[in-house]
Amino acid sequence: MKWTEFADWGTKIAEWTQDYHLTVGDRPVRARTEPGEVLNALPEMPPETPEAMEDIFRDFEEIVMPGITHWQHPRFFAYFNSNASAPSVLAEFLAAAIAPQCMLWQTSPAATEMETRMMDWLRQALGLPAGFAGVIQDSASSATLAAVLTMREKALNWQGNSHGLFGQKPLRVYCSSEVHTSVDRAIWVAGIGQANLMRIPIKGDWRGMDPEALETAIQADLESGFQPAGVILCVGGTGTGATDPVDRCLDIAEKYGLYSHVDAAWAGSAMICPEYRDYWPGIERADSIVFNPHKWLGVQFDCSAHFLKNPDDLVQTLAISPEYLKTHGKDGIINYSEWSVPLGRRFRALKLWFLIRTYGLEGLRQRLRNHINWSRALHNRLAAEPDFQIVTPPMWSLWTFRFVPAENPGSSDLDDLNLRLVNAINDDGRIYLTQTRVDGDLVIRFQAGQFETTEEDVMMAFDVITEIARGLV
Ligand SMILES: *Cc1c(COP(=O)(O)O)cnc(C)c1O
Repeated sequence: MKWTEFADWGTKIAEWTQDYHLTVGDRPVRARTEPGEVLNALPEMPPETPEAMEDIFRDFEEIVMPGITHWQHPRFFAYFNSNASAPSVLAEFLAAAIAPQCMLWQTSPAATEMETRMMDWLRQALGLPAGFAGVIQDSASSATLAAVLTMREKALNWQGNSHGLFGQKPLRVYCSSEVHTSVDRAIWVAGIGQANLMRIPIKGDWRGMDPEALETAIQADLESGFQPAGVILCVGGTGTGATDPVDRCLDIAEKYGLYSHVDAAWAGSAMICPEYRDYWPGIERADSIVFNPHKWLGVQFDCSAHFLKNPDDLVQTLAISPEYLKTHGKDGIINYSEWSVPLGRRFRALKLWFLIRTYGLEGLRQRLRNHINWSRALHNRLAAEPDFQIVTPPMWSLWTFRFVPAENPGSSDLDDLNLRLVNAINDDGRIYLTQTRVDGDLVIRFQAGQFETTEEDVMMAFDVITEIARGLV
């Protein structure tokens, strides 16, 4: 393809994008594709000769689009949203156009310095004190892995990378039963081992870690010859929004000299609204915090904000050239590849800059507040229906429920009924929900957080849920 043909196609695709976003609400949210359908529609062999862009684009519409689940649909209430706001998509287009590699300051000074500034804008937006430094990681999973490697190296007096874990005391890391599976994988990859990830029981409405049980577990491990290394706290867990008592858990982490990492991948975005910061009291004492602007905040995937109280610990863990450490922070030059596991890095700060300037923090706050208020209004309506039971209360915009008809079919049949319900809702196509388990029971999650969702979209969920549920019995 010649670059002289680019603008024509760029214009067509921009028009297609605008139209897609304006009409995506008319499509069924979840793809209605059978497994193998798309694979079979794609030729088994690559083409030997050039093909026309017209043909490629036609196949994109005919083969790809029917197989897409529409994450930008205003009635996507499943998982957590992964918003691609218009300005962030434009910024991503520009980043793709210039395609800089942002591993070192000198490989793209503007990208590095914008990343520093954008992470500081986000720090202020979240109400974190000056002194936290930030880096953009590709995902919360990567940030958590980087934090686990850091807690491992600190606990081993920086001997893990050089000597491996053989002959060391087994390390122990503590978290609640509600943390994301990315924590398990970080523990595996870091060589700490699943058996050394200690699940502390939860208690209370927030389904948060019991701080006394945390301390008991640390003491028992110390007596048995283990080496406690760190604590991973959860603020807004994926299943039900479980949130640990951050201040009380950090008291204990500090008392035992343990590195602390807070996973607020989803809920962290809401902390741009001061009224939600009560959910993470004492957060300024954490060593490491991650949240995903690519979820609720509206930044096109991927963009994960990782804050560090002392980035030198992370750099000492991950830097490839030790002599570089000597210059760190001294001459004002940052090489962000020293702060993350991958070396190559995309220019992700640009879309944060476009997003924050387009809406202003106040515009973003208003969106999140709407989502939370509308979700709670829906919760109140469903709670008033005798055949529905709220299982976990709203945490930000997330809550869970169960359909419990008057002819209660008994607990395992209720699981089956609710699974049939969520499947029937998703086959219907007007909304999209997912299920989780709470204390063993299958429950249905609701969360609102799509960037363009409206109050009517959220309220439509009431009609869809009640109508389909009552049709099942
Ligand atoms: C989504 C999520 C993650 C994983 O995020 P990635 O960026 O996809 O790695 C981790 N923790 C929580 C609480 C999440 O909601």
